[in-house]
Amino acid sequence: MEQAIETKTAVEALLQKRPLIISGPCSAETEEQVVQTATRLAATGKVDILRAGIWKPRTRPGSFEGIGTKGLPWLQQAKKESGLPVAVEVATAKQVEDALHFGVDVLWIGARTTVNPFSVQDVADALKGVDVPVLIKNPINPDLELWIGAVERVANAGIKNIGLIHRGFSSYGNTEYRNAPMWHLAIEMKRRNPGMLLINDPSHICGRRDILMDVAQKAIDLDFDGLIIESHIDPDNAWSDAKQQVTPERLGEMISSIVWRTEEIDSEELHAVMEKMRQQINQLDDELLQLIGQRMKVADKIGQYKKDNNITILQTNRWNAILERAYQRGDKLGLSQEFITKYFDAVHMESINHQNKIMNS
Ligand code: PEP
Ligand code: MN
Repeated sequence: MEQAIETKTAVEALLQKRPLIISGPCSAETEEQVVQTATRLAATGKVDILRAGIWKPRTRPGSFEGIGTKGLPWLQQAKKESGLPVAVEVATAKQVEDALHFGVDVLWIGARTTVNPFSVQDVADALKGVDVPVLIKNPINPDLELWIGAVERVANAGIKNIGLIHRGFSSYGNTEYRNAPMWHLAIEMKRRNPGMLLINDPSHICGRRDILMDVAQKAIDLDFDGLIIESHIDPDNAWSDAKQQVTPERLGEMISSIVWRTEEIDSEELHAVMEKMRQQINQLDDELLQLIGQRMKVADKIGQYKKDNNITILQTNRWNAILERAYQRGDKLGLSQEFITKYFDAVHMESINHQNKIMNS
């Protein structure tokens, strides 16, 4: 009992570590595979927590759906031999019960579960009165409210230690990524949950090992608190997610070659230089807002003129001409077409709203 309490505090403390690194196989396959992965990961000195899927929600039936409860003692053995606490995905009340029975230290809710409020509630109900950290992956679809809803359900069950895992969002067709990162959603989630642990899952975003590093570095540059990356003693022959796994040693190299950056600015000099540039940015933002305000005043005038002469607000030729002109100028200024499109869409919409108000007043 004494031992159990001590371990709990140790895991809580571990979750405060930055960067927090979680690694291990997509799925537990055999005892030897789990124990070997764990000890080789521990030997790199770069990993804090061992992950392994016991129950695998696969999109299509017929592929390996996890070893099930019989793999849980293997994790206990892996923990004993490597010293690494273990994390497992849970999707049902029974799985929560089994995982806790076998001393799993950290639970996570997978993307295919976060999408379903019934499932999340089922898991949350099983967590009532339990003191275990829970990490919640984003839902497979880009819906921030679903992700927040899952956090609320788990929090309402009394779980204090909740973290977030950004694993990307599925989209139709072949893209560079298995799951599109849509970084802005993770950034917004962080803004809405200040202080909550947020880690990135490059494995499930990339779906292939050659671009893992790029995504991992990007996450760190965006001030994520850590990474969860899949590793396997024989990646090519893994029973699930073979293309995206790396050996424990490669995982260690990857973590070593990431440039770790921090949000904190500690030296006075750095602070002063940053402050000066930030003032310039504020000044320019103020001027931009002033100009956009002026632009809308002109739009109001045009709106009045169109109203008096019964002309429609939208004139497609004019809109195309504005965009074409902006692309050319933007290009010379180093502004991407993507940005110009988004910016002009927003400005144009605001202008239409202004004119609409005038026309219908
Ligand atoms: C996994 O972590 O192996 C997994 C199934 O991930 P996700 O829920 O992100 O698909
Ligand atoms: Mn996986």
